[in-house]
Amino acid sequence: MKKAAVLKNLEEIINFINISNETMTLVEWKSPRSFKSFILDLNIIKEHATENIFFHLNKGNLKIVHIRKEDLIYTIGAESHVQYQILEAILEHVYQSFNETYDIKTIFSSYLDVNPIIFKNFKNELDNIMNNFDELNLIQKADVYCPACKKMMPVYIKKSIIKNAEFFPIPIVYSHQGHAILIYVDQNLDIRGVELVSITG
Ligand SMILES: [Zn+2]
Repeated sequence: MKKAAVLKNLEEIINFINISNETMTLVEWKSPRSFKSFILDLNIIKEHATENIFFHLNKGNLKIVHIRKEDLIYTIGAESHVQYQILEAILEHVYQSFNETYDIKTIFSSYLDVNPIIFKNFKNELDNIMNNFDELNLIQKADVYCPACKKMMPVYIKKSIIKNAEFFPIPIVYSHQGHAILIYVDQNLDIRGVELVSITG
């Protein structure tokens, strides 16, 4: 296994992380350099959230990934150059950590009015995740030759893709600069093939 990707200064590329239910934000982490409010973006997201499926959105210079898990929606926003697999890996870890820290089901079934202040300390955990993401070792960087760009491109792949795979090799589409390549990775996250594919949508 190759060494993990070096992702330093996550706070410089991640704009916000939000954990919400249907009616309110439970946790919102914003990058110290970010002044923007993301409330409007989140309303759109709530309308388009099927459980356990990652949704990707591009809004101007912002790249957004969100996923619904049980009754909560986990959202992350980042600079547009950040690859989706990195954002998915962060969200997966945030979900896991949030559910290890709080018994969400019990909290929401025990209280009629849940005050988001009870989740206040989770912002510190999000700071921790931001500062130590590299050590969590959730991402692998691979160098892939793109036949359209005619050069090697760094592609980031989340390691959880292996344990959730139903078959190998796993196909991953890397869409960039107006075209897309289909990359096949095996159970060691080694690249097994690359081809240019047509895009619609
Ligand atoms: Zn290319």
